[in-house]
Amino acid sequence: MAGGTVFGVVTRYPDHVEQFGPAFWEVKDVGGARRDPVTGAIPMVSCFADNRLAKAHPEWVQMGPGGERATRDQPYFDWDCLCPSRPEVEELALDWIRGALDQSGSESFRLDDVTFAREGYCRCEACEAGRRESGLDFEAYRIGKLTDFVRRSRALVPGTLYFTLFPDPYPGHLELRFGIDVDGLKRWVDVFVVPIYDLAYTTTYWLEVLAQGFRDRLGGHPWYLELYGLGVDEGRLTKAAQVGAAYADGVLVAYEKDGGKLRRVREALRG
Ligand SMILES: [Zn+2]
Repeated sequence: MAGGTVFGVVTRYPDHVEQFGPAFWEVKDVGGARRDPVTGAIPMVSCFADNRLAKAHPEWVQMGPGGERATRDQPYFDWDCLCPSRPEVEELALDWIRGALDQSGSESFRLDDVTFAREGYCRCEACEAGRRESGLDFEAYRIGKLTDFVRRSRALVPGTLYFTLFPDPYPGHLELRFGIDVDGLKRWVDVFVVPIYDLAYTTTYWLEVLAQGFRDRLGGHPWYLELYGLGVDEGRLTKAAQVGAAYADGVLVAYEKDGGKLRRVREALRG
């Protein structure tokens, strides 16, 4: 393993921020809960997933081709998805970014949940009107909307801009399913982060397939693999990190409490 492998964390513990870098800190999560930013950590904000706002403003929720709403009431959504075509939603997300940068003093930032809910979304009034005005087809409008949001976010972030990707490297999937034009976003995003979570990592062949897929898909653009750490056996987590580090430019471990375990995984990567 290369001595320079980046090892970082996604954490809820301020003492981890001092020990690990980069350390990402969730300022707002998909539930809509907020946490004050912490000095030294890179703030991350769930931009368009927000259960609280979806409840308060049902008209902001993304809508499917049959008029179905993108909320947890449907079996395949784990959170409620707001529509970026609503100016209120987009401006609120940009306000979150400004606020988190101001309060943390960080120059860098991570965009989370910048996405349409899945294929066919969104058919809300704002999207339909925006699409008519733009003259674009459905897919091009979605991609344009998200790319433009990332461009506007980029202008607020003087340091490194990180962007979370759904872990599907298959060509065309992120574009069709979520409206994310990975190649177009390379212009604005410095580092992509790909969470590939498992509660045990008892096997790693699938992790290796996905990591290799992203390495090829991103064509040399920097990216970090993010592993789930809390409750995962240390040996298994170390193995998963080593497998990932062979393909990614960095490895992050998310939500682990035990600083000693994190330090040992880091040492194993650098050993
Ligand atoms: Zn919409």
